[in-house]
Amino acid sequence: MAERYDVVVIGAGPGGYVAAIRAAQLGMKVACVEKRPTLGGTCLNIGCIPSKALLDSSEYYHLAHDKFVRHGIKVTGLEIDVPAMLARKDRVVKELTDGVGFLFRKNKITPVFGAARLASPTTVAVQKNGGGEETLEAGHILLATGSAPVNLPFIPFDGKTVVSSTEALCFERVPEHLVVVGGGYIGLELGSVWRRLGAKVTVIEFLPRIVPLADIELGTLLHKSLAKQGLEFHLETRVTGAKVTGERVAVSAEKKDGSALTVDCDRVLVAVGRRPYTEGLGLAEAGVNADSKTGKVPVDKHFRTNVPTVSAIGDLIDGPMLAHKAEDEGVAWAELLAGKAGHVDYDTIPSVIYTWPEMAGVGITEEQAKERKLDYRVGKFPFLANGRAKAMDETEGLVKILADAKTDRVLGVHILGPRASDLIAEAVTTMEFAGSAEDIARICHSHPTLSEAVKEAAMAVDRWSIHS
Ligand code: FAD
Ligand code: NAD
Repeated sequence: MAERYDVVVIGAGPGGYVAAIRAAQLGMKVACVEKRPTLGGTCLNIGCIPSKALLDSSEYYHLAHDKFVRHGIKVTGLEIDVPAMLARKDRVVKELTDGVGFLFRKNKITPVFGAARLASPTTVAVQKNGGGEETLEAGHILLATGSAPVNLPFIPFDGKTVVSSTEALCFERVPEHLVVVGGGYIGLELGSVWRRLGAKVTVIEFLPRIVPLADIELGTLLHKSLAKQGLEFHLETRVTGAKVTGERVAVSAEKKDGSALTVDCDRVLVAVGRRPYTEGLGLAEAGVNADSKTGKVPVDKHFRTNVPTVSAIGDLIDGPMLAHKAEDEGVAWAELLAGKAGHVDYDTIPSVIYTWPEMAGVGITEEQAKERKLDYRVGKFPFLANGRAKAMDETEGLVKILADAKTDRVLGVHILGPRASDLIAEAVTTMEFAGSAEDIARICHSHPTLSEAVKEAAMAVDRWSIHS
């Protein structure tokens, strides 16, 4: 007899495991199927967490190598121990993925390890990792199977020299020359990691700018900063192939003016986006629609697919492929299922690129404000004029706030600078409460903190910034 659950969640990433926990908190009997041997999905195992662990380790090395001396600290005998760095990253991952296991036990969620397939709109068949098959009956099924890296057919992944982010998180030594195809989140974050550790890094980007969707002014500043750190960029350049000879790769590309570019390197990271992952899930057999071009699963406001007992969230559906977006959808889905008012505000999902300086944004960019012909005002404040940034010796970047010219309501906030990832939270909160630039400007901010740069940018919207 198949075990019956109120909810069976497929995929234990930040979408799936959070949805499972919230559903259990709301009194539902929940199972969560995961085909990896550990919980936490892409984010905890091969995404957000290991990449940030390496970004932090490599930033510490960079500080000791280049910046401590400015603080009057001399370091001799500085060395990188890549295996130790990777081992620390693996420990961080293990503690967090084990932590999800603990949360499952606490909330009485049944984890099932194996590959799940929709056997019917209310049945999930699991090919268990240890062998054998298990069938689970469900009142509702939640698809949270995430995404996988996009493969370029003319430079296919080989797992060693031409790789995706998964392998670029585990290079056993610092590459001599890493070519990164794609100047987006992964390319810039992992490119930064290996550059800081000593690799030559060349980024090849198809479009005229890196991070194409970001506010152009800040994206341009980030480009300059990364170039100063030694990353080399080829924009408007189309990669056409890669020839692997032993440990070497010759990457060929074509520039916009038609001229050819060949780069000789020892590792290639292809980071040109991710696509929804539904392989072996049995969508077609169960009658669940997916977009034939993008692979995304269309859902309604309650995250239901065209089959009412089957819902989907996270990277599998429309919207930015971000862990916090997947988590919020998981909560909203469980709450809606329980008859509550679950909701995700897609206009206030922040994005962060964890380079140094970090770049964070929420709401519309200046380009979008122009496109929409909005009447807006801009306030900016540079970290160069912020006391705490000076004390830290981290004065690159600025805060930029866009506000409605008539109502002063905050429309978008973009930050390039130290700890932009944390500073953006104030902007998100203000926007969620439909706050104005003046609200931020008149709220008392501790001194000396980086957050005062956000306050000063808000003051600058009405041209009364005190410190610039
Ligand atoms: P996933 O996290 O992809 O989880 C899906 C899970 O489903 C996987 O564990 C998979 O094994 C499992 N699964 C798939 N098919 C089946 C099946 N048939 N049966 C059973 N299990 C199945 N986002 C951020 O917000 N911040 C970051 O800093 C960040 N950094 C990133 C760095 C990298 C290198 C990468 C690759 C991604 C990063 N992301 C980041 C994106 C983030 O990881 C994803 O947006 C997020 O993990 C999506 O969550 P999800 O629950 O939809 O899917
Ligand atoms: P991305 O969409 O961020 O960037 C891909 C880049 O590759 C774009 O700039 C695009 O113009 C470029 N590109 C596309 N095809 C190309 C080609 N043939 N040649 C050269 N350039 C090409 O994708 P990503 O960096 O692979 O990351 C995937 C997703 O994972 C991100 O979109 C994001 O949702 C998520 N992610 C988030 C974080 C974070 O939140 N800090 C970190 C890593 C990944």
